[in-house]
Amino acid sequence: MKAKELGKSYLVVFCKGCQAGFRVKEDAIPEGSKVQIATAQTLRCPKCQHQDTYQPAEIRIAKFQKEGLGQRRGG
Ligand SMILES: [Zn+2]
Repeated sequence: MKAKELGKSYLVVFCKGCQAGFRVKEDAIPEGSKVQIATAQTLRCPKCQHQDTYQPAEIRIAKFQKEGLGQRRGG
C-alpha cells in the first residue's frame, strides 16, 4: 500500500472492530473534489484485521494528520 501523505484527504472508514480510521482507497482525493461511493465495500482493517462491510454512508473523507486519520467520535 502507498504511504499516506500528511495534509492530504482520503476516503476512510472507521473500523467496526477497533474504531480506528483506515483508508478505503490508497490514493488521496484531489482537494475540493466530490467523491461518490456507490456501493458497499468489504474492507479489512490493517490494524486489527477485522473485516466488515461498509455502506457508502459510513465512508468519510478525512485529512491525514500527524495524529493519524482519527477515530469515530461520540457514540
Ligand atoms: Zn480495526
